[in-house]
Amino acid sequence: MTTTITVIGGGLAGLTAAIACAETGADVVLHEAHRTLGGRGRATPSPYVAHEGAHVFYADGPHYRWLARRGLVRGLGWPSPLAAARLGFRVDGRVRRTPPLRMLAAQTRSRLAAPVDQDFHGWASGRWGETTARHMANAISVVTYDADTGRLSAAFVWDLFQRVLGPRPPAVRWVRGGWQTVLDRMAARAAELGVRIETGSRVDVLPGAGPVIVATDPASASRLLADDRLLWTSGHCALLDVAVRADRRDRTLVFDLDEGGFHESYTMQDASIAPPGESLYQLQMPIRADESRSSAHARLDAFADLLLPGRADRTTFRRTATAKDRSGALDLPGQTWRDRSPIDRGDGVYVAGDTVAAPGMRGEISINSAIEAAHLATAQPATAAHPSRPPSRRAATRRGAGSDQRRSRWTG
Ligand SMILES: Cc1cc2nc3c(=O)[nH]c(=O)nc-3n(C[C@H](O)[C@H](O)[C@H](O)COP(=O)(O)OP(=O)(O)OC[C@H]3O[C@@H](n4cnc5c(N)ncnc54)[C@H](O)[C@@H]3O)c2cc1C
Repeated sequence: MTTTITVIGGGLAGLTAAIACAETGADVVLHEAHRTLGGRGRATPSPYVAHEGAHVFYADGPHYRWLARRGLVRGLGWPSPLAAARLGFRVDGRVRRTPPLRMLAAQTRSRLAAPVDQDFHGWASGRWGETTARHMANAISVVTYDADTGRLSAAFVWDLFQRVLGPRPPAVRWVRGGWQTVLDRMAARAAELGVRIETGSRVDVLPGAGPVIVATDPASASRLLADDRLLWTSGHCALLDVAVRADRRDRTLVFDLDEGGFHESYTMQDASIAPPGESLYQLQMPIRADESRSSAHARLDAFADLLLPGRADRTTFRRTATAKDRSGALDLPGQTWRDRSPIDRGDGVYVAGDTVAAPGMRGEISINSAIEAAHLATAQPATAAHPSRPPSRRAATRRGAGSDQRRSRWTG
């Protein structure tokens, strides 16, 4: 008997799950509520290709091998040596070329292991002193988007710190054209494999028959599966996309060790995402507990003024946003990724996304969990219906704009 696997959600997780299922020969239908695919990976159209946030992959994990084997991350952009030389660290209000020496010493300790049960600030302060512990936590806000990264599990933060700033060659990768290019390739690959993609199609109730992979954002998944654990701790930050007419004094990449901000040029590795002669940047500033968005945006503006001198007269594009609980799971002391909501919900229902029980950081968790969900869904014996789920509730799927597009595990 042929069963159809239903994938709910057409972001990074949903597309990964759909491809992985279809590659085994399964019949797959994907429902995406929005009129376009991509979820939080979407970017604005040319000439200014600005992301909702996500724009890089790290190449040091199974998620990347999975993408690379399918040619989904080909065409990488690299910063020129001149651009790379404009890297910096904000310390005590000034931008310097190198991190403070004590932080540099910590960066080299790649073999050190940190405890799961202790908070990062307490653990790192004991080794390198309070100031360095604060600098390290603020440096790693680049991937936590959290104003108090020091309160998270020491093991969780230390692993991120080593991945981002450790002594190994940097694993960060930029695909030319940005994440939208990767997502477009994924959609094309899914269609090529016969996945039926229904956009403008919100699913409010799980279908009654066949395996289902819920690959929505955490809030939707939590509603669909009635599971509050999917609302795991995540980041909260102010974002600023800004394009300016290029100036040699502009900084290309700055870690803010004072306040946890981050500044990065998108165009230093990919000139195609802004008009000629212009540079496009994204800056982020984590929002503190009890701080207003406007206050965080004011701090972000001050940070931008420091890095792009005289930017007001040169600005050609500007966009601000706030991202709350949208940047992937953060583990508190005593927690690891294994403590998050399980992928296998029983009864042929699986969940994929960036707050579930899978390794990695941010979108990697989505990819890794989707590969596992697909593996489990396709390993299921074909059944017409699940006894404890109601009979098919296809009527619960609201069709909007209609269709406009047509086994492996963490080891890749
Ligand atoms: C500021 C910021 C920067 C980031 N930077 C990076 C980065 O550089 N690298 C990285 O790896 N990650 C990064 N991330 C994280 C990354 O964006 C996410 O982890 C990833 O996009 C999540 O993909 P997803 O498919 O799990 O969820 P989503 O992208 O949220 O996709 C879920 C999809 O499901 C759809 N949906 C929801 N409910 C329903 C429903 N009921 N029926 C049908 N469809 C539904 C939604 O419309 C959406 O398209 C960043 C995040 C932020 C906020």
